[in-house]
Amino acid sequence: MRTALVVIDRVARGLDRPFSYAWPADGTTVPLGARVRVPLGRREAVGVVVATDAAVADSPPTGLKPIAAVLDREPVLPEDLLALAFFIRERWVCHLSQALRALVPAPVRRLESPPLPGLYAVGEGPARGPRRQALFQRVLTDPGVDAGRARADTGASAAILRELEAAGHLRRGEHVCPPLPSAVLTLTAEQEAAVCAVRAGAAGSEWLLEGVTGSGKTEVYLELIAATLAEGRQAIVLLPEISLTEEMRARYQARFPGRVAIFHSAMAESTRVQEWYRVRRGAAGVVLGPRSAVFAPCPALGLLIVDEEHEPSYKQEEHPRYHAREVARERARLSGARLVLGTATPSLESAYRARTGATGFLRLPERVTVQTLPEPVIVDMRQELADGHREMFSRPLKRAIGDALARHEQVVLFLNRRGYATSVVCRDCGLSLKCPQCAVSLTYHRGRSAVLCHYCFHEEPLPVVCPGCGSTRIRSFGVGTEQVEEEVRRHWPAARTLRADADTLRFRGSHQALFDTFRNGDADILVGTQMVAKGMDWPFVTLVGIVAADITLTLPDFRAAERAFQLITQAAGRAGRGERPGTVVIQTYNPEHYAITAAARQDFSHFYAIETPFREALGYPPFGSLLLVEAAAAGEDDARSLAGRAAAAAEGSEVTVLGPAPAPLERLRGRYRYHVLVKAKDLQPLLQLGERLQAEEPRLSVTVDPQNML
Ligand code: ADP
Ligand code: ZN
Ligand code: ZN
Repeated sequence: MRTALVVIDRVARGLDRPFSYAWPADGTTVPLGARVRVPLGRREAVGVVVATDAAVADSPPTGLKPIAAVLDREPVLPEDLLALAFFIRERWVCHLSQALRALVPAPVRRLESPPLPGLYAVGEGPARGPRRQALFQRVLTDPGVDAGRARADTGASAAILRELEAAGHLRRGEHVCPPLPSAVLTLTAEQEAAVCAVRAGAAGSEWLLEGVTGSGKTEVYLELIAATLAEGRQAIVLLPEISLTEEMRARYQARFPGRVAIFHSAMAESTRVQEWYRVRRGAAGVVLGPRSAVFAPCPALGLLIVDEEHEPSYKQEEHPRYHAREVARERARLSGARLVLGTATPSLESAYRARTGATGFLRLPERVTVQTLPEPVIVDMRQELADGHREMFSRPLKRAIGDALARHEQVVLFLNRRGYATSVVCRDCGLSLKCPQCAVSLTYHRGRSAVLCHYCFHEEPLPVVCPGCGSTRIRSFGVGTEQVEEEVRRHWPAARTLRADADTLRFRGSHQALFDTFRNGDADILVGTQMVAKGMDWPFVTLVGIVAADITLTLPDFRAAERAFQLITQAAGRAGRGERPGTVVIQTYNPEHYAITAAARQDFSHFYAIETPFREALGYPPFGSLLLVEAAAAGEDDARSLAGRAAAAAEGSEVTVLGPAPAPLERLRGRYRYHVLVKAKDLQPLLQLGERLQAEEPRLSVTVDPQNML
């Protein structure tokens, strides 16, 4: 008797493991990764086949129920992806069916049967007929395109399609990719060395590519991908955002015509299905997309690239709460692919691994285009205030904006507005209030007229005078992008100004429209939140202004300094990417802070040298692991006591329990939220604890390695 292990596609206690079934009595084959309908109790349920003839093969238990129906004839998932589901379940403590769902996008999961393979052009095409030629051209420029789409775009009838297929001009399902154009650039010696090192590395090996902004990291990726395609294998490139995926798409498509598949959730469902199957069938060799693209069903994966590897957006906030970088590492191991993490501002975790020899370490210390990095100007806002200047824009920033506008160059004004939490900053000495135990910034709560630590719930009254310098000008701190935009219009009414934040970029396609407007030079000043800091390549920007560096520096998060370093460095990296040199103006009340001085010089190693001992002393990652337990309830008392019980249950010799404390966003969607943060040197006790808490109490939700503490 042949058997299969099936995971039921339902999140329920008792179903969090595979169940054994017999193959259907009628002899239907059951492919690995296929969806099946199976009897469950008195009803039927849908599940996924995760193994065939597995553990039960030798002594099949009697009375095994047969699978009722096989829903997919082609196997849906390659084997390495199935193994990833089990990894995700263990590593981030979630339900097996949640992990499996992450592997296949919803439109593919909903599909009754897989779409027909796409069309490919052969030879010169038909000699006559504008519709025929239009259809042929459409397919030629987009190999593997869906037949229905190609017809709709060109107005060709079904008869014309049949005719071209019969005449051999068009074929289905063959990978007749156009030849790769040869590289137009000659790599620098550093780039060449990086490419050689990775290519010479063993299967499954991992590399950190640490290169300043504009150092040519993307060119290194392109070269590595070309080599991977030449071996007949595929590559996945992860980017932190959908908007950045769209920015980069043209560059990859130009280098690998007809072979690039785009994976993201903002595309039409039919396109997502097409792209998924193009990759599944090996017709597209390069996948580009945000974190979920790590699950692209490549049949023979050879290379995984995580660009801007430090970005918190690689962490999924809903179950399964995976980190795409960690998933990529496991997938590289399972499939024998090489893994490259690229960034100008590594996460401390990746930097530590590279500097201790756990991974390969490659550096690109110089920019390729303009020889120099932007000139940094750190403005001491305490001095501005002392001199009687109370405006949002300091004198140096106003002067620099005026000069750039006069030279018809573009300006980006950058404000990190994570909103919500407000810190307290002294306007005279720059001091921000910190928790004595956890070293994270204290957060002001107007209702209590107090400041709180969101890790351990340490509470103090809001001080009347600064504990550092005795000044009375110590108060809460925060500005919004709208206020910045108003200020710009007031000073430079003639300048064409755009604003890019969560409000203006809410609609599909609005990213692209706004960034195109700016790139085309149809605007002078762009005011934006952190999304403008990421990877964008705008050659006419010569000035970047960081309006309030302290907002990031005082986030209630142990990564606040790291985030400040990253955001300032990345934002500064947008300046001077073209012919003309750039300037970056950083406004801060903490001009001597190492995160700011190191970011101004784009000197990661300096930042790393100072930050690492702090992390080590307090047991924060990479020197320990964290588990965030969140208790949510309709009533505040319920949430607090629930969290209190969780904290008591968490106590143990291997862990440190902080809290319970109200979450920085105390109420979210009508529910009160309390946090308990558990620290441990090793991950294992935290995973066991997470499993236990989650199984015992459904109102507790656990996050392993939280990236966002709000
Ligand atoms: P990064 O990804 O590190 O920000 P890019 O790969 O985007 O850097 O390179 C920055 C700019 O320099 C791009 O316009 C790119 O085309 C150009 N560039 C990269 N490598 C070279 C090279 N070897 N020779 C000339 N120009 C290069
Ligand atoms: Zn002070
Ligand atoms: Zn604390």
